Amino acid sequence: MPLSGLTDYHVHTPLCRHAQGWPLEFARRATELGLAELGFADHNPMHEPFDDWRMLREELPQYIAAVQDARAAFPDLPIRLGLEMDYLDGSEPWWETLQTLGPWDFWIGSVHYLPGGVEVDNPKYLSRYRDEDPELIWSAYWKQYERCIRSGWFDFVGHPDLPKKFGYRPKGDLRRFYAPCVQALVDTGLAYEVNTAGLRKDCRELYPAHGFVALAREAGVPVLINSDAHAVEELGAGFGEAVRLLREVGYSEVVRFEGRRRVAVALPEVEL
Ligand code: ZN
Ligand code: FE
Ligand code: FE
Ligand code: ZN
Repeated sequence: MPLSGLTDYHVHTPLCRHAQGWPLEFARRATELGLAELGFADHNPMHEPFDDWRMLREELPQYIAAVQDARAAFPDLPIRLGLEMDYLDGSEPWWETLQTLGPWDFWIGSVHYLPGGVEVDNPKYLSRYRDEDPELIWSAYWKQYERCIRSGWFDFVGHPDLPKKFGYRPKGDLRRFYAPCVQALVDTGLAYEVNTAGLRKDCRELYPAHGFVALAREAGVPVLINSDAHAVEELGAGFGEAVRLLREVGYSEVVRFEGRRRVAVALPEVEL
């Protein structure tokens, strides 16, 4: 079993309108790969229709039912129910409600939108990187990311380092961006994910970069590995590289979630 002992908690469904594969299909693939647990984290519904890449509020029951169908079909595979939450100012009243609308195992805090509305990972805003100093977007992003961590709403944070997606990075030592967020993770006791989707983008690198992971390890910040799969073939993709990076910087544990409680398990000794 290639991925035995590992988990993949960042998986999308067709309800977000840009992913393929229903929970049943992902669950079948997860058992083929030998994953210890599977988790769904589709883009969270907003209170009002908001953009064209997430489920509507009315579709939430369908999302939960699809995950429950997969659980029924694969009773030996623990399947966790989560959401990838967009950290947006002023959402708290809706989150209060959303918390009560499902038996959540975890919420991921992600920053895709900067204050002002720029979408960090949308090619629509590519000129912001190309024609301006990437430093501007990076500064705004990491400031917002720190606020996301400190908000206290999430179990772990998603794809740190997202603004490198298109391959534009500021000059110099990027640890100046990472360090305040690692400190925020220490202060709040939150975990972060190593997200392998970056390997499939122009930056050709895990989210976050080696420098962030090394700082976080030194500070004792818990970690988990996720694929951000938007298609069944992407489940568990790049996990070999992620495991090697975690070992290299000295991690010996990864974390899992159930009912919004975190447990640490040994980083499995898989050959990848
Ligand atoms: Zn997505
Ligand atoms: Fe995301
Ligand atoms: Fe995602
Ligand atoms: Zn994501």
